[in-house]
Amino acid sequence: MEKRQQLYEGKAKKVFATDDPQLLIVSYKDDATAFNGQKKGTIKGKGVVNNRMSNRLMQLLEKKGVPTHFVEELSERETLVKRVSIVRLEVIVRNIAAGSFAKRYGIDEGKVFAAPAVEFSYKSDALGDPLMADDHIPALGLATPEELDYIRATALKINAFLKEFWADCGVTLVDFKIEFGKTADGSIILADEISPDTCRLWDSATGEKLDKDRFRRDLGGVEEAYAEVMKRLEEHEG
Ligand code: 5GP
Repeated sequence: MEKRQQLYEGKAKKVFATDDPQLLIVSYKDDATAFNGQKKGTIKGKGVVNNRMSNRLMQLLEKKGVPTHFVEELSERETLVKRVSIVRLEVIVRNIAAGSFAKRYGIDEGKVFAAPAVEFSYKSDALGDPLMADDHIPALGLATPEELDYIRATALKINAFLKEFWADCGVTLVDFKIEFGKTADGSIILADEISPDTCRLWDSATGEKLDKDRFRRDLGGVEEAYAEVMKRLEEHEG
């Protein structure tokens, strides 16, 4: 596989073309941003953790019947993925109130929901990823009603798997954001990443935050938290 020109540089990743038009190489950086790019920093080793963790979780999800963009881990920071056009939705699943949910409704973090809650945001840096009413998604042409049904059902399936997986690692899955992409043949697959950048992960015993909220909220111990969740995952995998 030949790595060719850089196609895109995002906040946390770079994307490169390859000699196969259907495949891309994603390269994970240590750069961290929050609050729509207003806060910037570096989390040493984050790119390695996010690459490895995302790949491992996507491989496990594939085994559960969830199609993903993962093809092959090339190095500690680089992965070969299927080329997709990203569906411009941030698909968020919440099990416990936290973050923007707690803020929007004026409640403390920590309320455990009776059932997981799925929400969608419009993926637009310029607009600050606004929350969407579900009917606005087909209205804007971001996905058909059938595609949206599939995305919602798949997000809930991913949540059920990840919740149990992290519980076995002594970690509570509070919420997470995923993104889907469309392949050349029109099928919708899980894309982007699943990592401490995109999930809220709390130590089940102590409630300690083991995710990007440590960076967002200046809690310190950011690198250690990323290393700790990776260690828990690896110990669980044996
Ligand atoms: P909230 O809406 O409460 O800020 O975020 C809900 C969940 O989605 C959290 O796990 C958070 O990490 C993730 N999330 C939401 N928006 C983004 C985003 O723009 N970038 C990243 N990395 N994660 C996000």
